[in-house]
Amino acid sequence: MIPAALSVDLESYWHAELLRSRVDRGMMADRVEEATRPLLDLLAQYQARATFFVVGEVMEAHPQLIQDIVAAGHELACHGYTHRPLWELDEATFEAEIRRFRDLAARIVPQTPIWGFRAPTFSLSPATAWALDVLARYGYHYDSSVFPMKTPLYGVPRAPRRPYRPGPDLVTEAPDGRLWEWPMTVWSVGPVTLPVCGGFYLRALPMPLILHGLTRAAGRGPVVIYLHPWELDPGTPRVPLPPRDRFITYYHLGDAMRRRVERLLQHFDFLPMRERL
Ligand SMILES: [Zn+2]
Repeated sequence: MIPAALSVDLESYWHAELLRSRVDRGMMADRVEEATRPLLDLLAQYQARATFFVVGEVMEAHPQLIQDIVAAGHELACHGYTHRPLWELDEATFEAEIRRFRDLAARIVPQTPIWGFRAPTFSLSPATAWALDVLARYGYHYDSSVFPMKTPLYGVPRAPRRPYRPGPDLVTEAPDGRLWEWPMTVWSVGPVTLPVCGGFYLRALPMPLILHGLTRAAGRGPVVIYLHPWELDPGTPRVPLPPRDRFITYYHLGDAMRRRVERLLQHFDFLPMRERL
């Protein structure tokens, strides 16, 4: 078993960037319980523990679920309050989200330390790096929002590929920086860089390639996987989308993704990010 960290971005399917503006929330169930409870059972079956980056709106709507996650030994971390990407916020509105998350968590799971943050849609970039100052002020120890390659929506291509202390450009290291950054795991073969770490890529790339890439990447530094409960839920509603967005959002959703996650659980010894750091 290879040591690794598992992270779960706990949000409703309607928080996903390609769906956010296309779902009428008043008309549909959020399916958070239906998607997350079976995932918790699966993790327990493999004695795996994870970091749950929770959206504040989800904690507000499902306090018992969050209490059960913490009671099962998983780490509670923050995925914003509303899941708006950082490029839609500024320092003041971001700080308001962080404060609201802290106050809600203090009521629902008192005495639970919150060390980690992940920006919705990996929206941390040099232009939004003010977020790191806010996190440090609120007692966070690490951020996990850098995607160290270029993708259509996000990415910091020259960023280090292992945990580091980031300067404001997210590329240069600042040894006296207050926060750790744990970037997503990517694997390079020659000129090609593959995001073998989760989400759509974990659903779409061939599984042997993912396992090989992750194993190679683990030889270089700690690897982190990310996934969303809605990706394993066969009941995730199919919202009409343009063909490309439909492929990215729904390809290999449900049982196919669940089987892939089981393969990972068989190969890797997963701990929460806080414990691996
Ligand atoms: Zn998210």
